Amino acid sequence: MDKSTVLVTGGTGFVASWLVKELLEQGQDARITVRDSQKEEKYAHLAEIEKQTPGTLKVYEADLLKEGSFDEAVSGCEYVFHTASPFIINGIKDANKELIEPAIKGTQNVLSSVNKVESVKRVVLTSSVVSIFGDHVDMKGKESFSEGDWNTTSSINHQPYSYSKTIAEKEAWKMMKEQDQWDLVTINPSFVMGPTLSKRTDSTSISTILSFLTGGFKTGVPNLASGIVDVRDIAKAHMLAAFTPKAEGRYIISGGEITFMEIAQLIEKNFPGEYPLPKRVVPKPLIWLIAPTVGLTREYVSKNVGYPVKFDTSKSKGELGMTYRSIETTFIDQVNQIKRDGLVK
Ligand code: NDP
Repeated sequence: MDKSTVLVTGGTGFVASWLVKELLEQGQDARITVRDSQKEEKYAHLAEIEKQTPGTLKVYEADLLKEGSFDEAVSGCEYVFHTASPFIINGIKDANKELIEPAIKGTQNVLSSVNKVESVKRVVLTSSVVSIFGDHVDMKGKESFSEGDWNTTSSINHQPYSYSKTIAEKEAWKMMKEQDQWDLVTINPSFVMGPTLSKRTDSTSISTILSFLTGGFKTGVPNLASGIVDVRDIAKAHMLAAFTPKAEGRYIISGGEITFMEIAQLIEKNFPGEYPLPKRVVPKPLIWLIAPTVGLTREYVSKNVGYPVKFDTSKSKGELGMTYRSIETTFIDQVNQIKRDGLVK
Protein backbone atom coordinates (compact mmCIF):
# COMPACT_ATOMS: atom_id res chain seq x y z
CA MET A 1 0.00 0.00 0.00
CA ASP A 2 1.43 3.42 -1.00
CA LYS A 3 1.99 5.91 1.77
CA SER A 4 -0.66 8.63 1.89
CA THR A 5 -1.84 11.36 4.19
CA VAL A 6 -5.26 10.54 5.56
CA LEU A 7 -7.64 12.22 7.99
CA VAL A 8 -10.01 10.45 10.35
CA THR A 9 -12.53 12.85 11.88
CA GLY A 10 -13.49 11.90 15.45
CA GLY A 11 -10.43 9.64 15.45
CA THR A 12 -10.67 8.72 19.12
CA GLY A 13 -14.13 7.11 18.93
CA PHE A 14 -14.89 3.41 19.36
CA VAL A 15 -15.05 2.69 15.61
CA ALA A 16 -12.46 5.26 14.47
CA SER A 17 -9.75 4.05 16.89
CA TRP A 18 -9.60 0.66 15.15
CA LEU A 19 -9.42 2.39 11.77
CA VAL A 20 -6.55 4.61 12.96
CA LYS A 21 -4.76 1.50 14.24
CA GLU A 22 -5.08 -0.14 10.79
CA LEU A 23 -3.78 3.02 9.10
CA LEU A 24 -0.78 3.22 11.43
CA GLU A 25 -0.02 -0.46 10.91
CA GLN A 26 -0.08 0.12 7.15
CA GLY A 27 2.47 2.94 7.52
CA GLN A 28 0.12 5.79 6.64
CA ASP A 29 0.45 9.39 7.81
CA ALA A 30 -2.69 9.46 9.90
CA ARG A 31 -4.29 12.66 11.12
CA ILE A 32 -7.15 12.69 13.56
CA THR A 33 -9.48 15.39 14.80
CA VAL A 34 -10.64 15.69 18.38
CA ARG A 35 -12.79 18.38 19.92
CA ASP A 36 -10.31 19.16 22.67
CA SER A 37 -6.66 18.31 22.06
CA GLN A 38 -5.85 19.12 25.71
CA LYS A 39 -7.64 15.91 26.70
CA GLU A 40 -4.67 13.73 25.90
CA GLU A 41 -6.20 10.77 27.71
CA LYS A 42 -8.70 10.52 24.85
CA TYR A 43 -5.99 9.67 22.33
CA ALA A 44 -3.27 8.18 24.56
CA HIS A 45 -4.13 4.68 23.26
CA LEU A 46 -3.45 5.83 19.68
CA ALA A 47 -0.18 7.55 20.63
CA GLU A 48 0.86 4.22 22.18
CA ILE A 49 0.01 2.34 18.96
CA GLU A 50 1.94 4.91 16.91
CA LYS A 51 5.12 4.01 18.84
CA GLN A 52 4.87 0.38 17.73
CA THR A 53 3.86 0.90 14.10
CA PRO A 54 5.42 2.40 10.95
CA GLY A 55 2.74 5.10 10.55
CA THR A 56 2.65 8.58 12.04
CA LEU A 57 -0.11 10.25 14.05
CA LYS A 58 -0.97 13.94 14.13
CA VAL A 59 -3.76 15.39 16.24
CA TYR A 60 -5.88 18.40 15.17
CA GLU A 61 -8.65 20.19 16.96
CA ALA A 62 -12.00 20.50 15.13
CA ASP A 63 -15.67 20.77 15.97
CA LEU A 64 -18.45 19.60 13.69
CA LEU A 65 -20.44 22.74 14.41
CA LYS A 66 -17.69 25.25 13.58
CA GLU A 67 -17.38 26.40 9.99
CA GLY A 68 -13.84 26.08 8.62
CA SER A 69 -12.86 24.00 11.63
CA PHE A 70 -11.54 21.11 9.52
CA ASP A 71 -9.59 23.23 6.98
CA GLU A 72 -6.17 22.72 8.52
CA ALA A 73 -6.60 18.99 9.16
CA VAL A 74 -7.88 18.31 5.61
CA SER A 75 -5.22 20.39 3.83
CA GLY A 76 -2.77 18.06 2.04
CA CYS A 77 -4.77 14.86 2.63
CA GLU A 78 -5.50 12.34 -0.12
CA TYR A 79 -8.17 10.45 1.79
CA VAL A 80 -10.68 11.66 4.35
CA PHE A 81 -12.65 9.31 6.59
CA HIS A 82 -15.55 11.20 8.12
CA THR A 83 -16.62 9.15 11.13
CA ALA A 84 -17.42 11.88 13.69
CA SER A 85 -21.12 12.15 14.47
CA PRO A 86 -23.03 11.82 17.72
CA PHE A 87 -24.37 8.29 18.28
CA ILE A 88 -27.04 8.70 20.95
CA ILE A 89 -30.25 6.71 21.14
CA ASN A 90 -31.36 7.18 24.75
CA GLY A 91 -32.00 10.20 26.95
CA ILE A 92 -32.25 12.67 24.07
CA LYS A 93 -33.66 16.01 25.24
CA ASP A 94 -33.15 18.19 22.17
CA ALA A 95 -32.78 16.04 19.05
CA ASN A 96 -32.02 18.99 16.84
CA LYS A 97 -29.16 20.25 18.98
CA GLU A 98 -27.77 16.89 20.07
CA LEU A 99 -28.08 14.92 16.81
CA ILE A 100 -29.39 16.64 13.70
CA GLU A 101 -27.24 19.78 13.70
CA PRO A 102 -23.89 18.11 14.40
CA ALA A 103 -24.62 15.39 11.81
CA ILE A 104 -25.67 17.68 8.98
CA LYS A 105 -23.48 20.71 9.73
CA GLY A 106 -20.55 18.41 10.43
CA THR A 107 -20.91 16.75 7.04
CA GLN A 108 -21.20 20.13 5.33
CA ASN A 109 -18.19 21.53 7.19
CA VAL A 110 -15.93 18.55 6.54
CA LEU A 111 -16.87 18.37 2.85
CA SER A 112 -16.54 22.15 2.41
CA SER A 113 -12.98 21.85 3.75
CA VAL A 114 -12.40 18.99 1.28
CA ASN A 115 -13.68 21.22 -1.55
CA LYS A 116 -11.12 23.90 -0.66
CA VAL A 117 -8.08 21.68 -1.40
CA GLU A 118 -7.10 19.79 -4.53
CA SER A 119 -5.38 16.89 -2.82
CA VAL A 120 -8.38 14.83 -1.64
CA LYS A 121 -9.26 11.97 -4.01
CA ARG A 122 -11.77 10.03 -1.96
CA VAL A 123 -14.00 10.58 1.06
CA VAL A 124 -15.25 7.59 3.03
CA LEU A 125 -18.27 8.47 5.15
CA THR A 126 -19.30 6.36 8.13
CA SER A 127 -23.02 6.23 7.62
CA SER A 128 -25.21 3.46 9.05
CA VAL A 129 -27.83 0.87 8.22
CA VAL A 130 -30.21 3.34 9.83
CA SER A 131 -29.87 5.40 6.63
CA ILE A 132 -31.04 2.28 4.79
CA PHE A 133 -34.14 1.57 6.91
CA GLY A 134 -36.15 3.24 9.67
CA ASP A 135 -38.12 0.53 11.48
CA HIS A 136 -38.04 -3.24 11.26
CA VAL A 137 -41.61 -3.18 10.01
CA ASP A 138 -40.31 -1.41 6.87
CA MET A 139 -38.92 -4.77 5.72
CA LYS A 140 -42.46 -5.96 4.96
CA GLY A 141 -42.53 -8.08 1.82
CA LYS A 142 -38.73 -8.00 1.41
CA GLU A 143 -36.20 -10.72 2.18
CA SER A 144 -33.59 -8.22 3.31
CA PHE A 145 -32.50 -4.59 3.16
CA SER A 146 -29.90 -3.70 0.55
CA GLU A 147 -27.93 -0.66 -0.60
CA GLY A 148 -30.75 0.52 -2.89
CA ASP A 149 -33.02 1.11 0.12
CA TRP A 150 -33.29 4.44 1.94
CA ASN A 151 -34.79 5.25 5.29
CA THR A 152 -37.98 7.16 4.52
CA THR A 153 -39.77 6.73 7.85
CA SER A 154 -37.57 8.40 10.50
CA SER A 155 -38.04 12.00 11.56
CA ILE A 156 -36.87 14.39 14.25
CA ASN A 157 -39.67 13.02 16.47
CA HIS A 158 -39.40 9.31 15.66
CA GLN A 159 -35.94 7.69 15.57
CA PRO A 160 -34.03 11.02 15.48
CA TYR A 161 -30.59 9.33 15.42
CA SER A 162 -31.62 7.38 12.31
CA TYR A 163 -32.95 10.60 10.80
CA SER A 164 -29.67 12.42 11.54
CA LYS A 165 -27.64 9.72 9.76
CA THR A 166 -30.02 9.65 6.78
CA ILE A 167 -29.98 13.37 6.10
CA ALA A 168 -26.22 13.57 6.67
CA GLU A 169 -25.57 10.81 4.14
CA LYS A 170 -27.95 12.42 1.63
CA GLU A 171 -26.14 15.73 2.05
CA ALA A 172 -22.80 14.01 1.40
CA TRP A 173 -24.07 12.47 -1.85
CA LYS A 174 -25.48 15.85 -2.90
CA MET A 175 -22.14 17.60 -2.25
CA MET A 176 -20.24 14.87 -4.10
CA LYS A 177 -22.38 15.34 -7.20
CA GLU A 178 -21.70 19.09 -7.22
CA GLN A 179 -17.98 18.61 -7.95
CA ASP A 180 -15.63 16.17 -9.72
CA GLN A 181 -12.42 16.29 -7.69
CA TRP A 182 -13.24 13.58 -5.10
CA ASP A 183 -15.54 10.61 -4.98
CA LEU A 184 -17.57 9.29 -2.07
CA VAL A 185 -17.96 5.79 -0.68
CA THR A 186 -20.20 5.17 2.31
CA ILE A 187 -19.89 2.43 4.89
CA ASN A 188 -23.28 1.54 6.36
CA PRO A 189 -22.63 -0.64 9.44
CA SER A 190 -25.20 -2.43 11.52
CA PHE A 191 -24.78 -2.32 15.34
CA VAL A 192 -21.03 -2.37 15.97
CA MET A 193 -19.73 -4.56 18.79
CA GLY A 194 -16.36 -6.01 19.81
CA PRO A 195 -13.37 -5.01 21.92
CA THR A 196 -12.55 -1.34 22.44
CA LEU A 197 -9.01 0.03 22.14
CA SER A 198 -9.55 2.78 24.70
CA LYS A 199 -11.15 2.30 28.09
CA ARG A 200 -13.92 4.76 27.26
CA THR A 201 -17.41 3.53 28.03
CA ASP A 202 -19.42 6.45 26.66
CA SER A 203 -20.02 4.87 23.25
CA THR A 204 -23.55 3.47 22.84
CA SER A 205 -22.03 0.19 21.62
CA ILE A 206 -20.09 -0.23 24.85
CA SER A 207 -22.84 0.96 27.19
CA THR A 208 -25.19 -1.60 25.60
CA ILE A 209 -22.93 -4.59 26.32
CA LEU A 210 -22.25 -3.21 29.80
CA SER A 211 -26.03 -3.17 30.40
CA PHE A 212 -26.12 -6.89 29.59
CA LEU A 213 -23.19 -7.64 31.91
CA THR A 214 -24.28 -5.51 34.87
CA GLY A 215 -27.89 -6.64 35.16
CA GLY A 216 -29.46 -3.77 33.22
CA PHE A 217 -31.65 -6.28 31.36
CA LYS A 218 -31.98 -8.72 34.26
CA THR A 219 -35.77 -8.58 34.31
CA GLY A 220 -35.93 -9.53 30.64
CA VAL A 221 -35.42 -8.23 27.12
CA PRO A 222 -37.86 -7.44 24.33
CA ASN A 223 -38.02 -9.77 21.34
CA LEU A 224 -35.78 -7.43 19.41
CA ALA A 225 -33.44 -8.42 16.57
CA SER A 226 -30.40 -6.49 15.39
CA GLY A 227 -27.70 -6.71 12.79
CA ILE A 228 -24.31 -7.00 14.50
CA VAL A 229 -20.85 -6.41 13.09
CA ASP A 230 -17.38 -6.58 14.61
CA VAL A 231 -15.62 -3.24 15.09
CA ARG A 232 -12.43 -4.72 13.57
CA ASP A 233 -14.39 -5.69 10.45
CA ILE A 234 -15.73 -2.14 10.25
CA ALA A 235 -12.17 -0.80 10.31
CA LYS A 236 -11.24 -3.25 7.53
CA ALA A 237 -14.27 -2.15 5.48
CA HIS A 238 -13.22 1.50 5.75
CA MET A 239 -9.70 0.61 4.56
CA LEU A 240 -11.05 -1.38 1.62
CA ALA A 241 -13.50 1.39 0.74
CA ALA A 242 -10.67 3.93 0.59
CA PHE A 243 -7.94 1.90 -1.04
CA THR A 244 -9.90 -0.25 -3.52
CA PRO A 245 -10.02 1.99 -6.61
CA LYS A 246 -13.18 0.40 -7.98
CA ALA A 247 -15.12 0.74 -4.70
CA GLU A 248 -18.22 2.83 -5.31
CA GLY A 249 -21.51 3.78 -3.72
CA ARG A 250 -22.85 2.46 -0.44
CA TYR A 251 -21.77 -0.71 1.38
CA ILE A 252 -23.87 -2.41 4.05
CA ILE A 253 -21.40 -3.93 6.51
CA SER A 254 -22.96 -6.50 8.83
CA GLY A 255 -21.82 -9.83 10.22
CA GLY A 256 -25.30 -11.29 10.76
CA GLU A 257 -28.48 -10.89 12.77
CA ILE A 258 -29.25 -11.91 16.35
CA THR A 259 -31.93 -11.18 18.96
CA PHE A 260 -31.20 -9.63 22.35
CA MET A 261 -32.16 -12.92 24.04
CA GLU A 262 -29.74 -14.83 21.79
CA ILE A 263 -26.98 -12.39 22.75
CA ALA A 264 -27.63 -13.17 26.42
CA GLN A 265 -27.58 -16.93 25.69
CA LEU A 266 -24.35 -16.60 23.76
CA ILE A 267 -22.63 -14.78 26.63
CA GLU A 268 -24.01 -17.29 29.16
CA LYS A 269 -22.70 -20.20 27.05
CA ASN A 270 -19.18 -18.75 26.96
CA PHE A 271 -19.08 -17.18 30.45
CA PRO A 272 -21.40 -19.48 32.45
CA GLY A 273 -22.78 -17.97 35.65
CA GLU A 274 -20.54 -14.89 35.50
CA TYR A 275 -23.12 -12.21 34.72
CA PRO A 276 -26.72 -11.35 35.71
CA LEU A 277 -28.02 -11.83 32.16
CA PRO A 278 -31.67 -11.71 31.08
CA LYS A 279 -33.40 -15.09 31.17
CA ARG A 280 -36.74 -14.24 29.58
CA VAL A 281 -38.32 -12.35 26.74
CA VAL A 282 -40.78 -9.72 27.95
CA PRO A 283 -44.07 -9.98 26.01
CA LYS A 284 -44.62 -7.18 23.49
CA PRO A 285 -47.82 -5.83 25.12
CA LEU A 286 -45.96 -5.42 28.40
CA ILE A 287 -42.98 -3.71 26.75
CA TRP A 288 -45.42 -1.44 24.91
CA LEU A 289 -47.07 -0.53 28.21
CA ILE A 290 -43.86 0.26 30.09
CA ALA A 291 -41.98 1.68 27.08
CA PRO A 292 -41.72 5.31 28.29
CA THR A 293 -40.31 4.18 31.65
CA VAL A 294 -37.48 2.23 29.98
CA GLY A 295 -36.46 4.95 27.53
CA LEU A 296 -38.41 3.65 24.51
CA THR A 297 -41.37 5.13 22.68
CA ARG A 298 -44.53 3.11 22.09
CA GLU A 299 -44.22 3.83 18.37
CA TYR A 300 -40.73 2.28 18.40
CA VAL A 301 -42.01 -0.82 20.22
CA SER A 302 -44.97 -1.20 17.83
CA LYS A 303 -42.82 -0.97 14.71
CA ASN A 304 -39.74 -2.93 15.78
CA VAL A 305 -40.32 -5.47 18.55
CA GLY A 306 -41.16 -8.92 17.19
CA TYR A 307 -40.19 -8.13 13.61
CA PRO A 308 -37.15 -9.72 11.97
CA VAL A 309 -34.43 -7.69 10.30
CA LYS A 310 -31.98 -8.90 7.65
CA PHE A 311 -29.24 -7.28 5.61
CA ASP A 312 -27.90 -8.25 2.22
CA THR A 313 -24.11 -7.99 2.43
CA SER A 314 -23.31 -9.49 -0.98
CA LYS A 315 -22.07 -6.14 -2.38
CA SER A 316 -19.44 -5.81 0.36
CA LYS A 317 -18.31 -9.40 -0.16
CA GLY A 318 -18.27 -9.22 -3.95
CA GLU A 319 -16.77 -5.78 -4.54
CA LEU A 320 -14.62 -5.21 -1.44
CA GLY A 321 -13.78 -8.84 -0.68
CA MET A 322 -15.16 -8.45 2.85
CA THR A 323 -15.20 -11.45 5.15
CA TYR A 324 -16.85 -11.29 8.56
CA ARG A 325 -15.99 -12.60 12.02
CA SER A 326 -18.73 -14.66 13.65
CA ILE A 327 -21.03 -12.82 16.08
CA GLU A 328 -19.93 -15.29 18.77
CA THR A 329 -16.25 -14.34 18.31
CA THR A 330 -17.18 -10.66 18.51
CA PHE A 331 -18.98 -11.05 21.85
CA ILE A 332 -16.35 -13.38 23.36
CA ASP A 333 -13.59 -10.91 22.47
CA GLN A 334 -15.61 -7.96 23.74
CA VAL A 335 -16.45 -9.56 27.09
CA ASN A 336 -12.83 -10.67 27.55
CA GLN A 337 -11.60 -7.13 26.86
CA ILE A 338 -14.13 -5.68 29.32
CA LYS A 339 -12.95 -8.19 31.96
CA ARG A 340 -9.29 -7.53 31.22
CA ASP A 341 -9.71 -3.76 31.46
CA GLY A 342 -11.75 -4.03 34.66
CA LEU A 343 -14.82 -2.31 33.20
CA VAL A 344 -17.05 -4.77 35.12
CA LYS A 345 -16.26 -6.86 38.17
P1 NDP B 1 -18.26 7.23 19.53
O1 NDP B 1 -19.28 7.88 20.40
O2 NDP B 1 -17.30 6.29 20.13
O3 NDP B 1 -17.48 8.33 18.71
C1 NDP B 1 -18.11 9.44 18.17
C2 NDP B 1 -17.05 10.39 17.71
O4 NDP B 1 -17.71 11.56 17.17
C3 NDP B 1 -16.16 10.84 18.84
O5 NDP B 1 -14.83 10.71 18.41
C4 NDP B 1 -16.51 12.31 19.03
O6 NDP B 1 -15.38 13.13 19.24
C5 NDP B 1 -17.06 12.70 17.67
N1 NDP B 1 -17.98 13.83 17.81
C6 NDP B 1 -19.23 13.82 18.33
N2 NDP B 1 -19.72 15.07 18.32
C7 NDP B 1 -18.77 15.87 17.79
C8 NDP B 1 -18.66 17.26 17.51
N3 NDP B 1 -19.65 18.12 17.78
N4 NDP B 1 -17.52 17.73 16.93
C9 NDP B 1 -16.50 16.89 16.65
N5 NDP B 1 -16.53 15.57 16.89
C10 NDP B 1 -17.65 15.07 17.45
O7 NDP B 1 -19.13 6.55 18.37
P2 NDP B 1 -18.89 5.29 17.45
O8 NDP B 1 -17.46 5.02 17.28
O9 NDP B 1 -19.79 4.24 17.91
O10 NDP B 1 -19.48 5.86 16.08
C11 NDP B 1 -18.65 6.44 15.08
C12 NDP B 1 -19.44 6.63 13.82
O11 NDP B 1 -19.98 5.39 13.39
C13 NDP B 1 -20.64 7.57 13.97
O12 NDP B 1 -20.75 8.31 12.76
C14 NDP B 1 -21.81 6.62 14.11
O13 NDP B 1 -23.02 7.21 13.68
C15 NDP B 1 -21.37 5.51 13.17
N6 NDP B 1 -22.00 4.23 13.44
C16 NDP B 1 -21.81 3.61 14.65
C17 NDP B 1 -22.40 2.39 14.91
C18 NDP B 1 -22.21 1.69 16.22
O14 NDP B 1 -22.92 0.71 16.47
N7 NDP B 1 -21.28 2.13 17.06
C19 NDP B 1 -23.27 1.75 13.91
C20 NDP B 1 -23.37 2.44 12.66
C21 NDP B 1 -22.75 3.64 12.45
P3 NDP B 1 -14.67 13.40 20.66
O15 NDP B 1 -13.61 12.33 20.77
O16 NDP B 1 -14.08 14.76 20.50
O17 NDP B 1 -15.70 13.28 21.74
